[in-house]
Amino acid sequence: MTQRIHCDQCNKPLKIKLKTKSRINIKETYFVCPHCKAKYTAYVLDGECRKLQSEIRKLKHSKNAKAQLFTRNQISKDEYVKAIDDIENENKKIQSILKPKMDRLRHSIS
Ligand SMILES: [Zn+2]
Repeated sequence: MTQRIHCDQCNKPLKIKLKTKSRINIKETYFVCPHCKAKYTAYVLDGECRKLQSEIRKLKHSKNAKAQLFTRNQISKDEYVKAIDDIENENKKIQSILKPKMDRLRHSIS
């Protein structure tokens, strides 16, 4: 998957090659325009954000686990639907904490 975008500064097509830079407890993912060296920050994560992201990954795993239980008839459809519902709610809760956090972090470094 290649994203076709143009540089805001020089208007030349950009090929995104993500790089990361670590600071104290903060990891910035960014890319640089090869023509004019303009820097674009993709996202910034601190320790807490990374923890939240790993929580989200864990939820994804438990969703798969529930699907497996269901296909093996080890839980009923109702149990499955309820479990997925709970997981989705938890996921939404974490996302709603994570997103504004990442926005704040991004502003704090630019
Ligand atoms: Zn440029």
